[in-house]
Amino acid sequence: MPTDAPASFHVMAKPTGAVCNLACGYCFFLNKDLLYPGSSFRMSDEVLAEYLDQYMRAQQVPVCNVSWQGGEPTLMGLGFFERSVELSRAKAPPGMRLEYSIQTNGTMLDDAWCEFFRRNEFLVGLSMDGPRDLHDRYRVDRHGRPTFDRTLRAARLMRRHGVEFNILCAVNSANASHAVEVYRFFLDELGASWIQFIPVVERVNSDGSTMRQEGTTVTERSVAPAQWGEFLIGVFEEWIRGDVGEVHVNFFESAFASFLGVPALMCIFQETCGEAMVLEHNGDLYSCDHFVEPGHLLGNIMERPMSELAASDRQVQFVEAKLSTLPGHCLSCDVRFACNGECPKNRFRLAPDGEPGLNYLCAGYRAFFEHVDGPMRRMAELYRAGRSPAEITDPVSDEDSQTTQVFASAGRNDPCPCGSGKKFKYCHGVSR
Ligand code: SF4
Ligand code: SF4
Repeated sequence: MPTDAPASFHVMAKPTGAVCNLACGYCFFLNKDLLYPGSSFRMSDEVLAEYLDQYMRAQQVPVCNVSWQGGEPTLMGLGFFERSVELSRAKAPPGMRLEYSIQTNGTMLDDAWCEFFRRNEFLVGLSMDGPRDLHDRYRVDRHGRPTFDRTLRAARLMRRHGVEFNILCAVNSANASHAVEVYRFFLDELGASWIQFIPVVERVNSDGSTMRQEGTTVTERSVAPAQWGEFLIGVFEEWIRGDVGEVHVNFFESAFASFLGVPALMCIFQETCGEAMVLEHNGDLYSCDHFVEPGHLLGNIMERPMSELAASDRQVQFVEAKLSTLPGHCLSCDVRFACNGECPKNRFRLAPDGEPGLNYLCAGYRAFFEHVDGPMRRMAELYRAGRSPAEITDPVSDEDSQTTQVFASAGRNDPCPCGSGKKFKYCHGVSR
């Protein structure tokens, strides 16, 4: 183990590489198969064993998450995952707790898969974009056929088997204008209580493809910046009315952490990139799921241990570049504490002063973080007082309500409404 290796890091493995049985219109990963011409796109048992052995030995923490993604990982067949569970248990150091997760389109799931997931306590991420017409807009199979019924069937099957699952919803130009409809569908029809949203931003490369993170224009499938902000605000308004503490939405949980003054939960909102690398089917390790491209290949774990690759100069530079390339416009932004310029993959616009590197989604994020400022601060106050943030939905007395509004409308540089004489940002607004 190299002395400068991180105490822990996360790897997301893609056992089928980019291969998938669907052909979703906006999928940023499908054409990554061009990176491996002639490959079978199946992780061998040799790579599987080496990966799990190195991964377990590299984690200097009591919990290790073994995480699978694609392409469509279930195309490997159930036997592959049964072997992966057996191997990981055999290789885990004494006392280490293993957590398993998998991201799937759900179309291959049946009783045997669900029974396996439940028995081994897998957390399953199910990709779904909303009700039928919105889901089927881009989520189609290789013959262009809709997939809504197959995905809905998977959700119901998992519920019946008691499998823990969450929803991953790609917010695109079609479903972004239906925030409440999409959100309520996941709650009311699927019984979901964990929802992850992800904005679709597809950059058009000079050759017309969307394979690399290059280019300054986006496809028509991409969500527009203002539309993205409106979507988040629309869901937030529905959530805050009665779902706080019951329904977990990735963007709201992460924002809450920022308003509490602790690191954001999502890597896109942290100051530097996360230690979350990607393992391709052949053992190639890349810096991040969004940068599976030659310039961000760290090496192959069959030739060099992943703990060394995780500590390599190339990975350290990748992690730190997120902060060192943040434009001045972000450095002086009032919501930088929660946004941090979001993901570098989306930083391809010019700031008002002409500096490159502003996030394409900036307008949406600014609108969202400004909108949630009051309620988030109120929830953070409740939490610090040892109360539940969910109390924000309780009816409050007029006096409480007025006080909350006064604090909510205070600017960062205003005198604090509590009368301390300090600026608000150094007093009750310290978490902003
Ligand atoms: S590039 Fe984006 S997704 Fe990848 S680690 Fe950095 S912030 Fe996270
Ligand atoms: S809201 Fe815009 S200016 Fe502010 S930190 Fe985010 S990307 Fe930068």
